[in-house]
Amino acid sequence: MSPTLTRPETPNKTDAGNGSYGICRVIDASRSPSPDPRRSPNFTHRVPTHRPDCVDCAKPTGRLHPILNIPLCADCRKAKPAVYGYISKTRALQEYRLKENELLSLGSHLVDNPHYKKAAPMQLYLFSQVQYLSRQKWGSSDPYLVTSTSISEDHISILAECPSRLTQLSPAEFELLIADRLSEMGLRIQQVGATNRKDGGIDILACPMSGMPFLLAVQVKHHRSSRKTGVSEIRDFAGVLHTHREISMGLVVTNTAFSPDAQWFAEQQSALLRLRDAHDLTRWLKRDFDNPYEWREMPDSITLAPNIVIQIPRPSIWVPS
Ligand SMILES: [Zn+2]
Repeated sequence: MSPTLTRPETPNKTDAGNGSYGICRVIDASRSPSPDPRRSPNFTHRVPTHRPDCVDCAKPTGRLHPILNIPLCADCRKAKPAVYGYISKTRALQEYRLKENELLSLGSHLVDNPHYKKAAPMQLYLFSQVQYLSRQKWGSSDPYLVTSTSISEDHISILAECPSRLTQLSPAEFELLIADRLSEMGLRIQQVGATNRKDGGIDILACPMSGMPFLLAVQVKHHRSSRKTGVSEIRDFAGVLHTHREISMGLVVTNTAFSPDAQWFAEQQSALLRLRDAHDLTRWLKRDFDNPYEWREMPDSITLAPNIVIQIPRPSIWVPS
């Protein structure tokens, strides 16, 4: 609702409306033929209450929201915690992964610590403003679900021309790049975020944008040197895939290569686990997503019963003429 307010009138004064209650009615004496604005047909007579109206329910209230500095009754503040509610500084820092200097731009309010009277006062912030900061910083008001997946086309083409530059990316940039390429392949992406990555490192979850859904769990392995991703990392990830039965397939992407042991381990469970290395990534950077080599784990045919061998359909590019 509109927070248009009528302040207790002081009728003979021209009020520029810049008081602490927000928008006030402006009475322009020069435009009124009557010296007394109360005689104007637009004037609504009000009994002076000396209590401003709550901006939300319009009932008179003696309360002022300490951060927003607007008249707001206690009922409305409690009824709409998402708009008017507070969050402590500790929670803002921990739950929204914000830094102290990032909170400096927000108004705050000091209250006594309700749990321990002798403790320093608690600093409260407006919940909705903290969520706004979090969305600006993390692309999400839930900072553990980072959704930002933008990486510039220029950046992609530079890396496509010179894949050795992949080592110069930060792990976060590399993850963003992989999310971007999977998205270009037609998958809907959800980055998991560092703090949720407790059991074995699922970095990205992905589902097809249309058609039959399946859940792909992705782990990205970024190396700043030419070090290969080893078997122990793949084995740990496979353990996570086996734990979460709702995951249809796991994918590990590295900017270098995989050790022979790691490749052997993945080949033993190729329906569940796929490995993609710098060569694959170079193709992805060039948007070559339909390359036959992408199908290397898929058999050409499957034997459904003795003597019943069915060819597995492949993209049209791969059908022999
Ligand atoms: Zn109210």
